[in-house]
Amino acid sequence: MEAIIRLSAFFGILLIMIGWEFLRPRRKLQLRRIQRWPINLGLGLLNSSLLRIVAGGIAYQSAFTAAANSWGLLNLMVVPHWLAFLITLLFLDFAIYGQHVLSHKWSLLWRLHQIHHTDLDFDATTAIRFHPLEIIVSMAYKIFCITLIGADPLAVIAFEIILNGCAIFNHSNVYIAPAIDRKLRWLLVTPDMHRIHHSTIPVETDSNYGFSISCWDRLCRTYRTAPAKPHRVMDIGLASFRRRSELTFGRLLLLPFRALRRR
Ligand SMILES: [Zn+2]
Repeated sequence: MEAIIRLSAFFGILLIMIGWEFLRPRRKLQLRRIQRWPINLGLGLLNSSLLRIVAGGIAYQSAFTAAANSWGLLNLMVVPHWLAFLITLLFLDFAIYGQHVLSHKWSLLWRLHQIHHTDLDFDATTAIRFHPLEIIVSMAYKIFCITLIGADPLAVIAFEIILNGCAIFNHSNVYIAPAIDRKLRWLLVTPDMHRIHHSTIPVETDSNYGFSISCWDRLCRTYRTAPAKPHRVMDIGLASFRRRSELTFGRLLLLPFRALRRR
C-alpha cells in the first residue's frame, strides 16, 4: 500500500510537470528530448526496480524497527505525535541537504553524484537521473538517519513523497512569474533556484543544494539568488562533459570508475 501511494504521487507529479513544461517552458531546450529522455527515464526505471527488488519499502520498515526496539531520539522521549512528525520531516530534509553538500565536497561521493550533473539540459526527467550506486548509498544513509532520530513511520512516507515531488518540481523547465518565484522561494526550492545548481560555473554548482524547503541554503550560507548569465541562456551541465557521445547510458554507468575530471 505504501508503495502504491508513493508511486502514484511520483507519476502524478511527473506527468503534471511535463505537461506544464510543454505549455509554459522556461527555456528552449538545447537537445531534442529523444536525445536525453531514454537515458534519464532508463536510469529512473533501473533505480526504482533496484530499490523495489533489493529494498522495497525499507526506509518505512526501518522506522518500525526503530520504534519496536526503542531506538533513536524520538523513541526515547515522550513527544506528541504531531511534533514527532514535524521533527522527522525537518531532520530528514536537513540530513539530505547535508548529504548533497558532502556529495560535492568529497570526491568519492562526487564520482557517483556527477552523473546527475552531466545532463546537458534541465527538465523534470533530470530529477531521476542518478547513478544506481548513489541511490543505494542514499538509502543506507537515510536508514541510518531514520534510526538515529527514531523517525515516525508515517512521516517517513510523507517525507519520501514530499522529497520526490519537490525534486520533480524544482528540476522542471517551467516558467513561474518572477514575483511569484520570489515569494515561493521563502519556503520552497523553486526551479529558478535549483537551476543555478546545475550551472557549468563551479561556484554556482556548489550552491543551492536544497531539495524541498529553501531555508537550509540560507541558514548554511550556500544560497545564491541568481546565475551570472540569465536563466534563458545559462549553460547547464559540467564544463568537462560537453560531448553527448561521452554521456550514453553505458558510459554513465561506468563513470564512477573512470579517472575524475577537474570541474
Ligand atoms: Zn548536486
